[in-house]
Amino acid sequence: MVYPVIRCVQEIPCDPCVGSCPKNLITMKDSILSLPEYTEGCLGCSSCVMLCPGLAITLVFNNYDPNKEKALVMMPFEFVNETVPLGCEVTTTDLEGNVVGKGKVVAVKTKESVDKRRLLLVEVPEKDKLLVAGFHIRDIYHGEPLTEDMQDEEDPIICRCERVRKSEIVREIRMGVRDMNQLKAVARPSMGGCGGKTCTDIILKIFKEEGVPMEEITLPTNRPLVAEIHLGDFVKKK
Ligand code: SF4
Ligand code: SF4
Repeated sequence: MVYPVIRCVQEIPCDPCVGSCPKNLITMKDSILSLPEYTEGCLGCSSCVMLCPGLAITLVFNNYDPNKEKALVMMPFEFVNETVPLGCEVTTTDLEGNVVGKGKVVAVKTKESVDKRRLLLVEVPEKDKLLVAGFHIRDIYHGEPLTEDMQDEEDPIICRCERVRKSEIVREIRMGVRDMNQLKAVARPSMGGCGGKTCTDIILKIFKEEGVPMEEITLPTNRPLVAEIHLGDFVKKK
């Protein structure tokens, strides 16, 4: 038996999951703003996992282990090929990023028409199958206040918000990362409160030091701070 676990929690105008299912098993009650709901009967075709832009769907394969000790979880993965941890043990996480346990990446599925997304099949303990939503890509340092003894002239901190050192950025560049959005996702520079105001230019200099031509680099997508406001709030109340 196979079924999707849909972790979609935001009522936003999004519905590729609905159209992706060849058996129309994913529906929305009222409008495109409603949360998707799944009805039994999954074929395991993986279209919904491949097409959900929010990476919000995993597929659980229940019949993977006749002894019922392990299950297979399919999850989307959007980093470069070199970083696919095929055959490796990974630390699995839940939706909030909390550690769930261990898993093993046993297979990778690709689709010709979807060039940047791969689907990874991760073997996990049976008890974890509904919790696992992702896994750690890198062991990253962040969280503690910046102190004098953390300064290191040989390996300076480039992103002060997230405490990302130069060596971490160089490592990703040498692994083939050219998209600064991807760099942000794997190593966290520009992820903090300043939104990359300080580190973006420094990172571009590091790319240059590493001999990467500017035309190969994809600049980060700047996302302004936004909050949804009802139109009525703009109307002057008397
Ligand atoms: S895996 Fe395929 S059949 Fe199953 S819910 Fe997703 S799109 Fe539908
Ligand atoms: S496609 Fe993904 S993000 Fe969009 S509504 Fe469906 S589950 Fe949610």
